Amino acid sequence: MNISVIGTGYVGLVSGACFAEVGNTVLCLDVDRRKIAMLEAGAIPIHEPGLDSLVQRNAEAGRLLFSSDYDDAVADADIIFLAVGTPPDEDGSADLTHILSAARSIGQRLVKPAVIVDKSTVPVGTADKVRAAIAAELARRGVEVAFSVVSNPEFLKEGAAIEDFMRPDRIVVGSDDPDAAQQMRKLYAPFSRNHEKFVEMDVRSAELTKYAANAMLATRISFMNELANLSEVLGADIEAVRLGIGMDPRIGPDFLYAGMGYGGSCFPKDVKALVKTASDNGQHLHLLSATDMVNDAQKNVLFSKLVRFFGGVEGLHGKNIALWGLSFKPDTDDMREAPSRILIRALFAAGARVTAYDPVAAGEARRVLAAEHGERLCDERLALAPSAHAALEGADVLVLVTEWKEFRAPDLPLLAASLRHKAVFDGRNLYDPAAFAAAGLVYEGIGRRAAA
Ligand code: NAD
Repeated sequence: MNISVIGTGYVGLVSGACFAEVGNTVLCLDVDRRKIAMLEAGAIPIHEPGLDSLVQRNAEAGRLLFSSDYDDAVADADIIFLAVGTPPDEDGSADLTHILSAARSIGQRLVKPAVIVDKSTVPVGTADKVRAAIAAELARRGVEVAFSVVSNPEFLKEGAAIEDFMRPDRIVVGSDDPDAAQQMRKLYAPFSRNHEKFVEMDVRSAELTKYAANAMLATRISFMNELANLSEVLGADIEAVRLGIGMDPRIGPDFLYAGMGYGGSCFPKDVKALVKTASDNGQHLHLLSATDMVNDAQKNVLFSKLVRFFGGVEGLHGKNIALWGLSFKPDTDDMREAPSRILIRALFAAGARVTAYDPVAAGEARRVLAAEHGERLCDERLALAPSAHAALEGADVLVLVTEWKEFRAPDLPLLAASLRHKAVFDGRNLYDPAAFAAAGLVYEGIGRRAAA
């Protein structure tokens, strides 16, 4: 099939490359010419394990093409995916500017029947808006072209995106047109033998399914973070509690990790957007509002621990805080809504310096932090270290922010020898408090029981 993917970010580029991998001809379009120029030159604009070789292989085979020209994307396509960003608006709702602009661009050029697929995460009712935007452009041109709008939300996880796309848990397709649904079934057949993963439903249910999934996962995290904070007060250990409840098959072990709060480009914005959709429709989502509130507070928990450790905010003035990890989670360079940004903001405000190491996100972090705090403040207060060990040089304490694999087995004697205050703050509960205590280190996790 001829596929076009509009928006060549984390979702669009991965989807496009995976569709090409199974034999389709795919054109990936982006309005960001710099991105397209990079891709045409064989460079990958984002960090995603395995993506470079996948893109290279399919580009070389002539199945994966890149363009900034909508004429190329619309002319021959049987199926056109919309995978543009849907960032949060000021009121929490999903900003549909990019989606509707892409829809209009399609409507201005459509000449043969096509299926238009909303792959971006969009509020219930967006397919109707996309349909109306395309229809309005067709009417303006005075032409009639048959087209359908289908919802096919994406569930891939950054850091494991290719695996998730190639072997999905489920493929949700919402369609009110049986022919369009059939085409989607055919397109996804290589990813789901016998279509066993294919879940077909109406458009609105598909749109809501994506928000329901992210809202449920975010709620599990906030639930565990609240219990972690309670564990500290009660002298219990959230890690023991996690194991104890996760073995119940009705609960399951995944997504039960207490930490610094969820970040990234999806959970925070999708929870807020669903709350807004509900309130626009006269309903208040009490549980999800609390999920969001708990998360905002959780992003400050480590800073509060640092303040306590140094005897007040003033105690942090002039201190050098080493951070391991900056991205919102391992195996990505994505810094959107990363908890590290909240911590760094608070540390800067307290007059502390930060020396950070991240295996891949350092460049992106520097870019977003400079945009947020200015180049000068970053020059003065932020050092990016070339290795985990280098970040410890001259540091007062260490904060583990992102659980990259290379941080899993730290050299404890080296930590004890390097850190002026011999203290480690573990924002991901990655470490064993007893081992740290035995090495003469103060250890603070999230909801952990202090080592005896
Ligand atoms: P992204 O910001 O990485 O990529 C979006 C791309 O769209 C950008 O390259 C941008 O230049 C391009 N774009 C914007 N307007 C355009 C237009 N009018 N025409 C063509 N290109 C345009 O975003 P992302 O992380 O890939 O997310 C895309 C969508 O998928 C969002 O709705 C997001 O919520 C959803 N989603 C993301 C993930 C994830 O893990 N990142 C997972 C599932 C769903």
